[in-house]
Amino acid sequence: MIFPVDAFHGFSYVLRSLRACDAQDFTARVIPMRSKEIIVDPQLIIVAGREKSLLRRHPWIFSGAVATVKGRPVSGQTVDVLGQNGQWLARASFSPKSQIMGRVWTFDAEEVIDGDFFLRRILQSAGRRKDFESAGNALRLVHSESDGLPGLILDRYAGVLVFQLLTAGMEFWRDAIIGALRNLFPEDAILERSDVDVRAKEGLAARTVVVHGQIPEQVGIHENGVKYLVDVQGGHKTGFYLDQRDSRLAVARAAGGREVLNCFSYTGGFGLAALGGGAAHVTQLDASAPALALAERNREANGFAPGSMDTVCGDAFQILRDWHREKRTFDLIVLDPPKFVDSKASLNRACRGYKDINLSALRLLNPGGRLFTFSCSGLMEDALFQKIVSDAALDAGRTGRIIHRLTQAGDHPVSLAFPEGAYLKGLEVLVD
Ligand code: SAH
Repeated sequence: MIFPVDAFHGFSYVLRSLRACDAQDFTARVIPMRSKEIIVDPQLIIVAGREKSLLRRHPWIFSGAVATVKGRPVSGQTVDVLGQNGQWLARASFSPKSQIMGRVWTFDAEEVIDGDFFLRRILQSAGRRKDFESAGNALRLVHSESDGLPGLILDRYAGVLVFQLLTAGMEFWRDAIIGALRNLFPEDAILERSDVDVRAKEGLAARTVVVHGQIPEQVGIHENGVKYLVDVQGGHKTGFYLDQRDSRLAVARAAGGREVLNCFSYTGGFGLAALGGGAAHVTQLDASAPALALAERNREANGFAPGSMDTVCGDAFQILRDWHREKRTFDLIVLDPPKFVDSKASLNRACRGYKDINLSALRLLNPGGRLFTFSCSGLMEDALFQKIVSDAALDAGRTGRIIHRLTQAGDHPVSLAFPEGAYLKGLEVLVD
């Protein structure tokens, strides 16, 4: 199959836009604009003492920190955030149904929230990705709070933009976001994948819609020399785990000549990277048959020999135990399970799940083997995750050492003021 290995044109548009127009031009070109319903922004008055996090530039305002809502804002509308003494703190969006009642747009009292604001922020955010362009033609261009745009995810796969609106504030400015994307990337197709559960917490229904252009059933991308087909309309998240780019490269570098198990493979990302790195053989294991079918198509697209890869569909917890009984072994195992933790209440159960699967994987590793183990839950702290893997090794009767700590790729940055933006952690463990 032939992939459109086109250059990553986005930034030339971005730069052209930057040069070609001043701020006024931006306003004129962002289409369509949503005019404000009222001239003076309504206000959130913060409980005394609770303004501290805002002074530290943390962008969330919990409902418990709001003493008074003045001016009857509608869902998503812009509000000024003031202290008890009338001190101006921030300008935010209003989410009446969420525990996070406000999300800060700006800490600059002079900055107006309008279509120009969103165009400017998206442009800045995309501009910060320059260094990551060389890896391939798929990048996250906006990573929500950490890029100053709470509730907006924007990924670009070749010439296809996929965005998610996660909050009432972003929903309110939907037309402006689309206008900015049309303006900055005029040749790109645009798909909205606002089909994530968190929208319910904001009182928003799911929405998946083609906003502009033709969206191919699968978009062909390339990353560090490997091709991947991405199902942007039906796949997980916006279609692909872009956040694992650096770790795919780490696996590729360690995979030469090895027997590899990619557990929770989804469409095969880590396994294909391993084959690209010269792995002797890869087993892709996942509970989803369609994901594995795409992994198979990805193998073909890269020209890797049919015998170089197997797919196994089923429950990883059960299958790894079966393989232990059958004395099956591997040299390198990737464990990248789905998020087991989505609330503090589920943390204990999740810890047992992580320990169970790590224990099973460690038992299958040959001496000198490597385990790449991940947790994509922000609620799982680094130290706790390390302890779980350590406990699993103890129970498996294995010892090992961490040789690299892994994290989300740099196009998924973490704002210094927003530690919650760090969610993905991984350990590369060399096992005795
Ligand atoms: N590693 C992948 C992403 C994994 S997402 C990548 O880098 O692209 C988590 C995957 O786990 C999903 O594909 C889901 O189908 C699979 N999954 C969830 N529960 C499972 C189970 N019990 N056994 C096997 N796979 C499971």
